[in-house]
Amino acid sequence: MSTFQPFHCGECGALVQFAAGIGRTREYVRGYNVPIPDEFAIPTCPKCGEIYVVPEIAEELNAILRKAFLRLQQQHYRQMVKILTERHGVTQKDIVQACGVTPSYLSHVMAGKRQASVTLTRLLEAFVANPAELDRHLDGHPWSLWNHFYVVADPGRSAPKSQKQSTEWGHRKRAQPGPEWSNNDVSVGVATVSKKRKVTVDAA
Ligand SMILES: [Zn+2]
Repeated sequence: MSTFQPFHCGECGALVQFAAGIGRTREYVRGYNVPIPDEFAIPTCPKCGEIYVVPEIAEELNAILRKAFLRLQQQHYRQMVKILTERHGVTQKDIVQACGVTPSYLSHVMAGKRQASVTLTRLLEAFVANPAELDRHLDGHPWSLWNHFYVVADPGRSAPKSQKQSTEWGHRKRAQPGPEWSNNDVSVGVATVSKKRKVTVDAA
């Protein structure tokens, strides 16, 4: 802080000073705001409230935000894994297999030591929202939708030009959809679970 040179607010012209504050947040990962501790002093405009993350505090603030983000992420992941293991009957090993990540990756995220990719977070959220999809990855084809939702017409033969150009899902020749696609009922998801695993989900 010793190198800090007071300056005027770019918004209103008042002299910016170091100040603590209540309820401040700052974006850490894109789209994820995390709280800044109330007591952490940041150059702040006393008139309009604008805060200025100057180089003198950037590193320290970033470390604080990272810690807060990892803690929030940890809670989120623990909840998601809990839902899948306790309510859907899969193991943590099943989850990493279906997500295509290593066991240590997930355990570091759940220990609050590693920042997860946005892709992994969204994938896990999708599995929680639709556990039958996780089952398909464990039980069947690694590209689980291949056999369940569509088939590419005669893969050995080149398709007619009109079909070849069409890459939208709606234009593909669909296979007879499996029963799990008929509705989103939880009990339907249970029906697709392999016999190896015990499932304790209640039929909703
Ligand atoms: Zn100002």
